[in-house]
Amino acid sequence: MVAWLSTMDETVTFEVGGTVFKTKRATLNTIEGSLLASLDKRKYVFYFDRDPTAFRHILYAHRYGRVHVPKDICPIQFLEEMMYYGIPKRLIAPCCWKFIYETENDVDTLKIFVDRNAKFAHFKNQVHPNESKPIGVDMFGSDGELNIIGEDKLPRGWQAKPTEKEECGACEHEPAHKVWLFLDEPASSPAAKLWCFFYTFVVIVSVTMDILWLDEAVRVPRYLSKLTEETHNASLVLREEVNEKVFLLLDTDPHVSLFVIDILCMTYFILETFVHFSTCPRKLTYFFNPYHLLKITLVITMIISTIFEVRKDLYRDSLVLEQFYFFCKTMNVLRLLLIFRLYKIYDGLNILLLALRYSVKELALLVLSLIIGVIIYGCLIFAAEIKTEMFATTQISMWWSLITMTTVGYGDFYPTSALGYTVGVVCAVNGVIVLALPIAAVAGTFNNLYSRHLDFHKHKDAVRKEERKNTIDDDTESCSTSSKSTMINKNDLKIKDLQ
Ligand SMILES: [Zn+2]
Repeated sequence: MVAWLSTMDETVTFEVGGTVFKTKRATLNTIEGSLLASLDKRKYVFYFDRDPTAFRHILYAHRYGRVHVPKDICPIQFLEEMMYYGIPKRLIAPCCWKFIYETENDVDTLKIFVDRNAKFAHFKNQVHPNESKPIGVDMFGSDGELNIIGEDKLPRGWQAKPTEKEECGACEHEPAHKVWLFLDEPASSPAAKLWCFFYTFVVIVSVTMDILWLDEAVRVPRYLSKLTEETHNASLVLREEVNEKVFLLLDTDPHVSLFVIDILCMTYFILETFVHFSTCPRKLTYFFNPYHLLKITLVITMIISTIFEVRKDLYRDSLVLEQFYFFCKTMNVLRLLLIFRLYKIYDGLNILLLALRYSVKELALLVLSLIIGVIIYGCLIFAAEIKTEMFATTQISMWWSLITMTTVGYGDFYPTSALGYTVGVVCAVNGVIVLALPIAAVAGTFNNLYSRHLDFHKHKDAVRKEERKNTIDDDTESCSTSSKSTMINKNDLKIKDLQ
């Protein structure tokens, strides 16, 4: 039969994974540079040990000049087939973009979790990241790259990242680096995790002190500053605007127990920041990290506010210094932001931050459309209410439009004319739409990241269970080979080119 086929000049026969395909020689030449176009012109029968379903679509691409993705094949597998047969991605029909790129995005997302897992596995095993082999890496090859034919055609983001050692340029077995990991990487060891929780506890205590500091219940008569009653009152008289809060601040001190706790927290933060900085492997880039900058700034403001607390005479006569003191004291509350270091332990928090980072464009769109809306409706309501006394300036009318668009509606300003009501209705409806759309996009990103995260953990648990079962089987029946036959040999899955 083969001999009979080869006598037909223009017909070429393919046997792919047990299925026979026939086509004209001219059809193969329609895609320049493809594998089928570059086949030996003297041969008429070709054999591929590959998937026939994918080949049907590859042949379709040669016949009609476009590729449709088969629904019974994983899109990533089909991409591999396309790369093997040299079909360019530009031929993928728009109706099938969704299948390919949605799956590619999912794989990209999973790569983030695999990378994180690889990093933590490396900490746990105390081996070099290139030597450790955490869950999921098998799929991408030991060097972190996807096993795909044609290395130059790797999907984006699959290139191997620099290792931890290359990144920080220090040996991880040095004592200083160990301290750095202990302070900076809560996932590096159980002790580091415990330390992170303790740090969070101190932050909460410190912030609680800042919340209570001007509460009458915890203020006692002055004992820190040594001002006499006369000079104190005399200086207060000099000041024009002294409200009750300032008077309470100048006239009283925090309860001694609060003051002691505050000093202890401050000492802790100073020491922690100092050790954190001095053990940092790359001291110059330390200051480029916003988290580190915030840490240092907060230590400085904490010292300043404590000095002002003790030495009231420093700011007593100056309104600017007093406001600076209030500013420093308020800044201390920003310490709560440092709790976000927990994202290094909790994936949920990490996913939230990732979703925000991925949605920067949507959030920028939200802010931009809000600004445009505020200006337009602000000017419209100002024009509509020009004859009434309600909106005195355009700034006030813009404040009204912002409050209306965000559906807060304080009711301090409101339209009074028919035209004003009309603008109000349009403004409120527009606000709901403008706010809802980008926020839905952010929520969608978060949802997708979270689902992939669940997939990853499900897979990780399944692999762990399987491995544990295999080791138990190996221990109990070391002579039996039955357990080993259930293990999937990686080499069996490798695609063989038998052409
Ligand atoms: Zn299609």
